[in-house]
Amino acid sequence: MRTNFRRIHFTLQFVFHCLLAGVCAAAAAEVGMNPELSTYIEAIGKPRLEKLTERVYVARAYGGSNFLFIIGDGGVIAIDSSWHIGSAAQALADLRKITDKPITTVIYSHGHPDHTGGVRAFIPDGAEDRIPIYASAKWHRYQDELITPIQPMILRRGAKQFDLDRVFDGDIMVSLGRFPAEGAIVSYLPPSREIDGPTELTIEGVRFVFEPHATDIDDALLIRLPDENVVYAGDAVTDMFPFIETPRMETGRSAEGFVTAPGIIAGWKPDHLVMGHGNTIIGDPDRIQRILRVQRDAVRE
Ligand SMILES: [Zn+2]
Repeated sequence: MRTNFRRIHFTLQFVFHCLLAGVCAAAAAEVGMNPELSTYIEAIGKPRLEKLTERVYVARAYGGSNFLFIIGDGGVIAIDSSWHIGSAAQALADLRKITDKPITTVIYSHGHPDHTGGVRAFIPDGAEDRIPIYASAKWHRYQDELITPIQPMILRRGAKQFDLDRVFDGDIMVSLGRFPAEGAIVSYLPPSREIDGPTELTIEGVRFVFEPHATDIDDALLIRLPDENVVYAGDAVTDMFPFIETPRMETGRSAEGFVTAPGIIAGWKPDHLVMGHGNTIIGDPDRIQRILRVQRDAVRE
């Protein structure tokens, strides 16, 4: 029964993601770019791996969101997976110039498709039992959100909100970053390890601290690598005004979470901060504290 319930949910999410990608491709057209968006896209730059520490690399500008590779003792841990299989595979190909260790673990910062859609590039068909996926125990909440009579409206408003029908330089550029027009195939796999409270784990010799915390959606995890002084905030923190509400009338976004999450991260005193979108702050703890304070105060106001 449980298996059937899950399968129905996964199928719905997969359909939702495919529809979103389909809307984008079908509606693509040449139009001018807002100069401010152009400046922002230029600042994000070209797809690349940025080295944070000896073990930690952030994948930037591959496909709408940032994600991490952590090189452990016996394998690589991926935190998030981009929006599409193609962009995740491109980042993995670049990682192969650095290490030939296999990906042995995946972690979802939260369930939104722009962070989970590329997972099949990291977990090929048949490898599901070998490569665990960690996520918040509340991941079912987002799955439930997909079953709603207003889903078509959410879909269309989402496509409009992110400018998914605009093509620039061969790619579809959205307010979140690059959205490849080619190979934009979306995948999804359910988590196989649930985290239901503050948790410390050592994976492949790397220590992790997980703090479940509602923000962009209530299945979010704040993730700290204490020995690397790295925090992966997912969509809990951004260097833009955070997504505390959308014109899509979704449920689950927590303004209170956007106020309290920065305090948790500030207390960890990271040297490096990776956000799910936008910039990565490398080796600048003062700037990180400033960004966290600005978000907390802006949302609170
Ligand atoms: Zn996101």
